[in-house]
Amino acid sequence: MATWDAIVVGAGVIGTSVAWHLASLGAQKVLVIEQGQIGCGTTAQSSGILRTHYSVPENIELALRSWVAFKQFDDYVSDEDASSGLVKCGYLIAAPAGNKLEPLRQALLAQQAKGIAVEFLSPATAQERLPIARFDTAALIGYEPEAGFADAYLVTAGFARSARRLGVSFREGVRVDGLIRDGARVIGVHTSDGAQHAERVISTQNIWSSQLQTWTGIDVPLTPERHTVLALKGPQAYTQQMPVFKDLGSSGMLYYRSYGGNQMLVSEGTAGEQLHDVINEQGEVSMDQVIAVGAQVADRFPSFAEAGLASSWTGIYDVTPDWNPVLGSLPDVPGLIVGFGFSGHGFKLSPAVGRVLAQEALGLTTDVPLEPYAHERFRRGRLLAGRYGQGAVS
Ligand SMILES: Cc1cc2nc3c(=O)[nH]c(=O)nc-3n(C[C@H](O)[C@H](O)[C@H](O)COP(=O)(O)OP(=O)(O)OC[C@H]3O[C@@H](n4cnc5c(N)ncnc54)[C@H](O)[C@@H]3O)c2cc1C
Repeated sequence: MATWDAIVVGAGVIGTSVAWHLASLGAQKVLVIEQGQIGCGTTAQSSGILRTHYSVPENIELALRSWVAFKQFDDYVSDEDASSGLVKCGYLIAAPAGNKLEPLRQALLAQQAKGIAVEFLSPATAQERLPIARFDTAALIGYEPEAGFADAYLVTAGFARSARRLGVSFREGVRVDGLIRDGARVIGVHTSDGAQHAERVISTQNIWSSQLQTWTGIDVPLTPERHTVLALKGPQAYTQQMPVFKDLGSSGMLYYRSYGGNQMLVSEGTAGEQLHDVINEQGEVSMDQVIAVGAQVADRFPSFAEAGLASSWTGIYDVTPDWNPVLGSLPDVPGLIVGFGFSGHGFKLSPAVGRVLAQEALGLTTDVPLEPYAHERFRRGRLLAGRYGQGAVS
């Protein structure tokens, strides 16, 4: 039977990025196995927000390296027709007096120390950038001009197409059911369509990564969490020129962006509904939820007290105990590399994560050390916890 250089399990934005990076780093025979269709998993639900703002310094580095790819995606994947769908509208983040203030200041200073353009804005200047909001209770406001949002599905399709051009094979509608081992070493996968052998296997299965626990016996600390996203149509447009906004002063740590050019996309960045099963179907959006989020929206965007609900949907986060991903090898399972637990902020990291996972799989030096993201951190109690507490802002 043919042996692949590498098999990637899962064709979301992370898996397709890994596949393209593997091929561009010289892997000749790469197979991606996807149980559904390319991009059909949680990637399709992404709000697409891109920023380098993080309170965890390691994440800043990955986001910064990824921004280079999003900004010139056609160059990055050597395909003049590829696009990330980037809207470079900037990113505003504000905190009132209180426990989020100092973490915000430290995070903004850390960005500046890395040479990232970040401005400290007065409430009046912030309002000029986002005139439909009020900032009178904000004690600190940061603005990142090189930020915005893009289209996660488009990026996934772009990575997949360019990967195909470099010779990567995709099998859709095929499920991986287990690992083939030679002693401890992983040498392939059992699938719903027979066995496939490989030098190394890279699992990018998102919420379905809990299957790794069955396959390896190693604890996978992951909770599927359902989050609700609302699109609101207010009396004033949230235009594409207006920045993405993160409101650390709201109880749900809400994030906002333009949607469709005049609507507002809004969602909470804190805890969602914890699910006991790995299910990716749409969940119910209750009127109670809409009212709770709507009240926070109206507090910050007064005219949106009159807004109507244009649409709503749900999406699932793969949440780890510290809201940061696990990247690299699992202990005592040579031949297996994993990338899961993106906890609602994986799109903005996907180019750099794809590259470091590909480097790790090929035995190359990784662009950034993977040690902080190692699975062992949970056992050793060295969590990669952000300063804002639980939540995808991390
Ligand atoms: C509502 C919502 C909003 C978000 N907003 C943002 C945002 O604004 N910015 C940001 O940076 N991030 C955001 N994220 C997070 C980001 O979208 C995800 O971190 C990212 O898309 C995850 O990509 P993935 O490839 O890991 O997962 P997925 O896209 O879920 O891909 C995993 C794939 O693996 C396949 N698979 C699993 N098991 C198997 C198997 N056994 N055999 C074969 N195939 C298998 C699945 O079918 C799936 O297609 C958001 C997420 C959600 C849900």
